[in-house]
Amino acid sequence: MRSVRDIPVFENIPILVRAALNEPLQNGVVVDSFRLSRAQATLRFLAERHARVVVASHIGDLGTESLKPVAEALGRALRGVSFCSSTIGEEARAAIRALSPGGILVLENLRRNHGETANDPVFAKELAALADVFVEDSFDTCHRAHASIVGVPTLLPSYAGLLLEEEIAALSGALAPKTPALAVIGGAKFGTKEAVLETLLSVYTHVFVGGALANDFLKAAGQEVGQSLVSGADPAHIKKLLANKKLILPIDSLVVPRAAMGSMDLRGRARIAGFREVRNDEVILDHGPGTEALLAGLAKKMHTILWNGPLGNYENGFTDATDGFARAVAASGARSIVGGGDTVASIENLGLLPRFSFVSTGGGAMLEFLAKGTLPGIQVLG
Ligand code: ADP
Ligand code: MG
Repeated sequence: MRSVRDIPVFENIPILVRAALNEPLQNGVVVDSFRLSRAQATLRFLAERHARVVVASHIGDLGTESLKPVAEALGRALRGVSFCSSTIGEEARAAIRALSPGGILVLENLRRNHGETANDPVFAKELAALADVFVEDSFDTCHRAHASIVGVPTLLPSYAGLLLEEEIAALSGALAPKTPALAVIGGAKFGTKEAVLETLLSVYTHVFVGGALANDFLKAAGQEVGQSLVSGADPAHIKKLLANKKLILPIDSLVVPRAAMGSMDLRGRARIAGFREVRNDEVILDHGPGTEALLAGLAKKMHTILWNGPLGNYENGFTDATDGFARAVAASGARSIVGGGDTVASIENLGLLPRFSFVSTGGGAMLEFLAKGTLPGIQVLG
């Protein structure tokens, strides 16, 4: 795989960068800048070498939102940023022709065109026609077979951007951790986490399964989980994973009565349920203090800690286990690697992100990379 540093000529060359500018917007205002700040290194690198930098990204899932406010936010961090209200076509081509060396042009949301998610070869060709060189820097979408991810690199000389390289190096490192090593996988999206558990069980010293994900395992282990969130995962597969002695489950839970769900101050209605103490009319929303202490004790002894997925329903006030573990990791001195939209948001709320060794910009992409060691958007870079 060739790096953006290997591009032979930069001066005045139109270079298309697939970046991750999909920041959350509220009423058209950018309300977070985590991705934007991480996207800057490659754009600055190319601008400083006087390339004509053309940036393509998506924002939101549906293609209804505009990248204009994100381009404006980028313009407050970097010089020479402009926005084009088209993604392809004559307006985009004219804006690129008018771009001066070192200038950065942000194209409109890729998903405005259905060809993006459909990986339409005609759309890929139109995108590729905008530039002479392609740089892939959007790690968080590299698991998707979209036109800008897997189509364009087959049509242009293609290189990995600085953020993509950083992600690959850090996550490859996480697949060969300095031991003892602890992996913590929580959250709720079981479908995206199942495959990674197998890989982690083969490489890590301990694998803790937490969050709503733990409910499936507790249930398969014969415990009552009441009305808690469970997935439709195959119990036979879960039993197979459970048989691995490296796998650790929560030993206690914070539960609320089903009837209290939706009420104000739900957190105030919670009680601690120990092992096998959850009743069938209750909902597990967090881990209990025993589990928190178990994780904190483990964290202290680890060289490496990998974490994806909040340990409780943190948006509704069930932040104890997630916050407790974030603090334990920050204080541990271990090499810490973390990723996942909700996980990063919950650590950011605590102001502890700078205390982690590596924060991935990927959620699903990070998990798939860890499970398979590569991604479609990386493989296509050759
Ligand atoms: P990430 O975005 O970090 O990859 P996920 O999207 O998989 O994480 O999971 C985050 C979601 O998991 C959050 O909405 C959180 O409320 C939820 N969650 C975690 N534990 C529980 C639980 N015990 N019950 C219900 N929801 C939970
Ligand atoms: Mg999420």
